[in-house]
Formats: sequence, C-alpha cells, structure tokens
Amino acid sequence: MHLKKSKAVIHSIPVLTDNIIWVWVFSDEAIVIDPALVDPVQSWLETHKLKLKAILQTHHHSDHIGGTPGLINLWPNAEVIASRNDINRIPFQTISVKDKDKIWLLDTSVDVIEVSGHTNNHIAFFISDENENISSPKLFCGDTLFSGGCGRLFEGSAEDMFNSLKKLKELPENTQIYCAHEYTESNLKWAHSLHPNNLAIKDKLFDVIKKRSEGLSTLPTTIGLEKEINLFLQARTIKEFAELRNNKDCW
Ligand code: ZN
Ligand code: FE
Repeated sequence: MHLKKSKAVIHSIPVLTDNIIWVWVFSDEAIVIDPALVDPVQSWLETHKLKLKAILQTHHHSDHIGGTPGLINLWPNAEVIASRNDINRIPFQTISVKDKDKIWLLDTSVDVIEVSGHTNNHIAFFISDENENISSPKLFCGDTLFSGGCGRLFEGSAEDMFNSLKKLKELPENTQIYCAHEYTESNLKWAHSLHPNNLAIKDKLFDVIKKRSEGLSTLPTTIGLEKEINLFLQARTIKEFAELRNNKDCW
C-alpha cells in the first residue's frame, strides 16, 4: 500500500477584536504566526497535542508579538524568527532574517520578503508549492495586505507600501493569503462606496457580509482574487496609491 505524503494544514485562532493568529501544522509540530496572546495559543496547541516549533513575526506591534515571550517560556526550544533590522523592537528573536533569506521549517523552505510600509522592517513569509508537503502556495503577510485593503502607513511612505504590494502581486495567483486581521467587510464597504458599479467588489461584499453574519472567517484570500477586488493592488502609480490610502484613512 502506498502512503500518501501528508500536507501541512493552516488553522486560525481569532483573538482580540479582529486579530487572527495563524497556526501552521505539520505532523505533530506547529508554527505560530504573530501571536498576540499566550492563552488561546497554549490551549489550542495543548488540545491538539502539538509541540510549538517556532514563531514567525511579521512586525513589532504588540498585537503581533504580545504572546511571544510567554509562549517561549512554555516551549523554550521554540525559535523566534523576525527581521534582524528590528532586533531592538523584537529582542527575543533567535533567528534573525532579512529580505530574500530562505529558512527551513517543518521540512519546508520559507522565503522572507521585506514589505515595509505599515512599519519599517515589516516582513512577510512565503511558502512555495514546490515543497512537497504544501498543497498551494501560502503567504503570511501580517499587516501589509488585507482582503480588500492594505495596512496603514505608520512608518513607511506611500512609495514603500506601493513597492511592497508590487512584490506581493508578483506571487502566483493561487497563493493563499493569511492576513493578520479580519478587516474584509469594512474594506469592501469602502471600496464599494468608491466604485458602486464594480461587480466583482459588489459580489464579494455580498458574500463577505453573509459569511460574517454567520460568524465565519473571510480568510484566507488569494492573490488572484485580490487583484480583482483590492483597489490598492489596482493602483497604477504611487500617487494613485497615496490618494486611495488617504481616502481610506479618512473614511
Ligand atoms: Zn500592525
Ligand atoms: Fe496588527
């Protein structure tokens, strides 16, 4: 009998108002992305009898790193992977990475992509489906790209974010995007208010309102879908992008 090689699975733990802690599971090990809190992650991992192997940090905001010190107390062998340029703001990192680095986790190769804009030194983690245990490409992008939106510019310029989104747009269309916040409904309401006749946005908004009313998540999304409904990805110039960002900030 041939045993099929098992594939990695991504789970979500919704916390706080709209944060999502993603858990990447392969066999009996787990990697947690941007844990805001300790308790929900601890109980989830214990319930599923999983060992915490590593924590991926996209950026230094407290709703992304708040649970990390507590989790590494509980699992002292877990690695913390973060931008080496943010060593001062993420001091508990054990593997320091930069743009274009490749790291090896859970039998899988992971690419680091620098995506500054929301913060300086914000990074994203991309997993290609060339890995045999990955069924479709995956992206953990923190607060850079949301479904229907993008992160606010707290530190970087419009140009930084425009260039970061351009990098993400080049990823395969079937890449599943695991954003750190469930903002889809309000993002699409904003997009729909600007483009009331855009059917792709209108249909998706309808779908999203229904999902949210049933308490369901709208994530992950995909690069292909975002190209159709995300106005920030459709901006052709930095100026156009900056105007959209300002408009959304004041909406
Ligand atoms: Zn943030
Ligand atoms: Fe955040």
